[in-house]
Amino acid sequence: MSNMIADPEAFNNLSTAISSLTTSPIPVNVLPTAESLAHARESLQTSLPTSGLGLSETIRHLREDIGPGLPASSRSPNYYGFVTGGSTPAAALADNLVTAYDQNVQVHLPKETVTSNVEDRALSMLCELLKLDPEQWPHRLFTTGATGSNIIGLACGREYVIAEASAIISDATTSVGELGIVEAMHRAGIDKLQVLSTAPHSSLLKAAGILGIGRASVKDVSLKDAPHRFDLPQLKKLLEVPGTASIIAVSASEVNTGLFATAGLGEMQELRRLADMYGAWIHVDGAFGIFGRLLTSPAHKSIIEACTGLELADSITGDGHKLLNVPYDCGFFYSKHREIAPRVFANPNAAYLSTGLATDSIMSPLNIGLENSRRFRALPVYASLTAYGSDGYREMLERQIELSRAVAEHLEDSDDYELLAKIGSKKEEAIGNIYMIVLFRAKDDELNKELVDRVKSSKKIYLSGTAWEGRPACRFAVSNWMSDVKRDLPIITEVLGEIVESWKRK
Ligand SMILES: *Cc1c(COP(=O)(O)O)cnc(C)c1O
Repeated sequence: MSNMIADPEAFNNLSTAISSLTTSPIPVNVLPTAESLAHARESLQTSLPTSGLGLSETIRHLREDIGPGLPASSRSPNYYGFVTGGSTPAAALADNLVTAYDQNVQVHLPKETVTSNVEDRALSMLCELLKLDPEQWPHRLFTTGATGSNIIGLACGREYVIAEASAIISDATTSVGELGIVEAMHRAGIDKLQVLSTAPHSSLLKAAGILGIGRASVKDVSLKDAPHRFDLPQLKKLLEVPGTASIIAVSASEVNTGLFATAGLGEMQELRRLADMYGAWIHVDGAFGIFGRLLTSPAHKSIIEACTGLELADSITGDGHKLLNVPYDCGFFYSKHREIAPRVFANPNAAYLSTGLATDSIMSPLNIGLENSRRFRALPVYASLTAYGSDGYREMLERQIELSRAVAEHLEDSDDYELLAKIGSKKEEAIGNIYMIVLFRAKDDELNKELVDRVKSSKKIYLSGTAWEGRPACRFAVSNWMSDVKRDLPIITEVLGEIVESWKRK
């Protein structure tokens, strides 16, 4: 027993063993029962075992005790709570191979391994999928998720905008990475650093907090009657404030409503013009919205337009474990500024981590991102893009939008529910503006307070709650590769119908 972990056979059989573990059927219930949750919690080891339970007993414990205490989450197409995505079969299998191969992708070593080539190729194929020119986005890497990417984006923006301010008064390069934020701002002659955004995701405030920009320096510059959109005159006013450096953060799209901060190319061109005039950086948080760029059909005209021009940004955040439907933990980051990357992220003076003389343009991930040792998280992305191609991904997203719009139409026609965050006065217009998120509430205020809990206790579908205009609201986020309007819509309408029926009977 004590030698088990040194047994080479165990490693040889690992990949077969792993795939046999994970072929679990999709549970009908999206949430575990109270009993299986209690059992799972009770079953946990209370302290570290001295001699260990051994491999087979441990695996039994995981599968039979802990497993039933886990919600289906993104394994179920009926889980609409958060934008969680799922895992395509190609991505899920590749993810198990990642564990079996157990690579560390931190230094680009072209004579020893192909890992960094796989990462770079996956990122350039992803560029093509998102209609971005791979040549224009040389600073690119996979991250732990969109939060990690937003931290990288604001860190690059911070480095850039302070250097731009400094360039006005001095020839020396002023680097926050080198000097620290206080000294760099002092040398650049600025005393304020701000992030200007509309309805930013919470992780953007978190990034500002981590980076010494400050959550209070994330300023809302939205229109009163359209809180997802920029108030351009107000934005210009804030950019002009003397002694201030700014990052413009574009929410594309917003997580409660799926609405986009910009309406089209013209608006992005105006943001670009202002950013260039005031030395600002444009960061797009496109965690799931950036995938709108896959769409081509006239039915998706408003989304296609909203995504046009996002390529004018300096940096882009995207999520892998959401609409790309690869396993956790995977996000991606792109920036046009190759030279900024090592100024912020260089892992300096570690001779043992040197690349040797690589003749290609691939930068070592440890010098351009947050981590040193890194999982080979590029492989599931590479596998899934290779397996399904751009047509496969477009068709996947079209099915998700078809379902969310069918739900929205059902709610709009209903006497008991109300569709929220509608754009336009006509029904067709409102439906035509919906991406893959549907925000709604029950018209009866008392029922509305309990709505999310009642949906959850149906255990047939899962939704999450939020607030809209000061009142509770419910949110559908359709993001799973399995989404299918014929199979899923009847389940959704049945649950929503039953909730109203039983409320009225009460
Ligand atoms: C989900 C999300 C994030 C955070 O992503 P994680 O992958 O959870 O780190 C950031 N921005 C937006 C718009 C999101 O939807």
